[in-house]
Amino acid sequence: MSADGRSVSILGVTGSIGQSTIAVIEELRAQGAHIPVEAVTAGANLQGLAEACRRLRPKFAAVADPNQLEAARAALAGLDIAVGAGPSALEDAAARPAAWVMSAIVGAAGLAPTLAAIRRGALVALANKECLVSAGPLMLKAAADHGATLLPVDSEHNAIFQVLTHPERVEKLTLTASGGPFRTATREIMARASPAQACAHPRWSMGRKISVDSATLMNKGLELIEASYLFGLEEKFIDVVIHPESVVHSFAHFVDGSVLAQLGSPDMRIPIAYTLSWPDRAKVSTERLDLAGLKSLNFEAPDPELFPALRLCRAALRTGPLAAAALNAANEEAVAAFLAGRIGFLDIARVVEDVLAHLEAEAAPIAKSPSSFDEVGAMDGAARRAALEIAGSLTAA
Ligand code: NDP
Repeated sequence: MSADGRSVSILGVTGSIGQSTIAVIEELRAQGAHIPVEAVTAGANLQGLAEACRRLRPKFAAVADPNQLEAARAALAGLDIAVGAGPSALEDAAARPAAWVMSAIVGAAGLAPTLAAIRRGALVALANKECLVSAGPLMLKAAADHGATLLPVDSEHNAIFQVLTHPERVEKLTLTASGGPFRTATREIMARASPAQACAHPRWSMGRKISVDSATLMNKGLELIEASYLFGLEEKFIDVVIHPESVVHSFAHFVDGSVLAQLGSPDMRIPIAYTLSWPDRAKVSTERLDLAGLKSLNFEAPDPELFPALRLCRAALRTGPLAAAALNAANEEAVAAFLAGRIGFLDIARVVEDVLAHLEAEAAPIAKSPSSFDEVGAMDGAARRAALEIAGSLTAA
């Protein structure tokens, strides 16, 4: 099976991953591949949604904001596309019968639509790491129960997925991290960092939330949790190494001492195309690696003082899935507060750490394994309320 003949839906079509997904589909269509588009979704960006619909001609389009139904209909007038609005419309989009679904909504808001795709046994290209961090074990169980296949899009996990020749013979994984814009910064510089500076990623062009996560290295911590769930390894068997060139996208170490890695230019079209054409590969016009031109590849250990987020994520993973859900929700609120100018850059990790300590002190069941998505939702809500309160006290201070 290749991408040719595969019907697709794109959740989060207006975002950075959504746009790269459109670029891959258009390139493969130009080569003659038949890739019908079933549904697309957006948060509130109607102009972006209309543009995506003109290019892809889906059968159904949905916006997250329930108040935007009429505005969305007007924006898509003349295109002969059914339109929906609100959270249930996002799930309707995912439930439509596309063989392959790109899950690229940002944040835990992507969980319910992603589950709708999983529950009908789709191939789910998973870019949205927050939903896996929030509800990993339950999501994996749902995928197994419904015969869905999760194809990791995050470049590190996609790299490991590509080289995992003997999953049962893995000794360790190493996730690479670019180090983000503050790799060589001091705490003083980080304390004063603006949202624009935090979002100025040296290697990747991405949405604002993941850009801030990359600057705090929370992104790498979330990826550590994601890797632990996807590949079934405890946190102590997953290393993180800073690799500023972002050419090696991760390593799998095997029991015989062999280490396999996947390399490529830092371009999300590569992992997206891999999941779209999996188990085949497609020809995509990404920049080819010039190894002699690269001259050297560098690796260094992350600084635990500058980047406490990694320690927090390791601790949450050891505590259990509900702690990971709380960490993810607290981080989403803290990043939103930072982007809105309400707290400083270094406060992000502080809010997350304080939320987890607060929930533990309140005897919230964070060490328990959730038996339902409702339990995950309740923990997510409690962590968000605590994060807003703690961030508010920092703003006032
Ligand atoms: P963007 O912010 O660029 O895009 C997010 C998408 O989600 C947009 O389509 C946005 O719609 C939509 N959206 C936002 N809020 C909601 C909501 N409440 N309900 C429904 N839809 C919503 O993010 P990215 O594309 O950068 O990232 C998407 C996901 O992929 C994230 O989880 C990220 O961690 C992951 N990822 C991204 C990578 C990258 O290179 N960008 C790499 C690896 C993983 P609208 O435009 O209307 O707001």
